[in-house]
Amino acid sequence: MTSAEKQKIAVFLDITHDFLGSGYKSEREYAFEDTPLIINEVNEINDVTETSDIDTIKKIADEIRVCKNCPLYEKRTNAAPGEGVLQPLVMVIGEGPGEDEDRQGRPFVGRAGQLLDKMLESIGLSRTTNSFIANVIKCRPPFNRDPHPEETSACAHFLERQINLLKPKFLLIAGRVAAQTLLKTTQSIGSLRGKFIDFSVGDTVYPLLCTYHPAALLRNEDLKRPAWEDLKLLKSKLDM
Ligand code: URA
Repeated sequence: MTSAEKQKIAVFLDITHDFLGSGYKSEREYAFEDTPLIINEVNEINDVTETSDIDTIKKIADEIRVCKNCPLYEKRTNAAPGEGVLQPLVMVIGEGPGEDEDRQGRPFVGRAGQLLDKMLESIGLSRTTNSFIANVIKCRPPFNRDPHPEETSACAHFLERQINLLKPKFLLIAGRVAAQTLLKTTQSIGSLRGKFIDFSVGDTVYPLLCTYHPAALLRNEDLKRPAWEDLKLLKSKLDM
């Protein structure tokens, strides 16, 4: 069975679960960039066709892939626009693509990404069923250096548009750079994590939780416990 077929079954079971559980019709749709067929099929099953949304998320991704608004485009192999489901429960926002992400054009697919997937899975989240994963910048900075302010500001409108369209229930921010960029602060990640912060985008206020970056957890075991506390705090708010 191909992964696309498996995903199709997972989506079908998900929707069936919603129907049988409460009579509620799930409005979740699935927006994997590389599986447009599934998007169409799910729309038919779900009968809540929001093709304008889908087109617009896709449109943002298309714009990102050819963007030349800052010098990072010169060295990229691929931009990594983001991936996951539409109307996600949680939108995870990291810093920016690393080497693996630049090669594949997908966010969080290297070692840190694999750890992120495990962390999410431990609280019932995944980019294939109920989450969306993106970064504050979409192109890899040389040698994985921190992005420069002119790069983050050139890229900011993409993330803002993604949040406005996706309207996640929660934002989970991975790491110092993403947290400081979004919250426009120089406070340490240690002082920002561990609590929900109201974060406005457009006319919506999102509960935002910062935690340590999975790459930091790979470097420093001592951060795993507080990161787990953050995940438990997020899970305690998820209605699932
Ligand atoms: N680190 C990030 O912040 N984002 C990625 O996509 C990969 C690694």
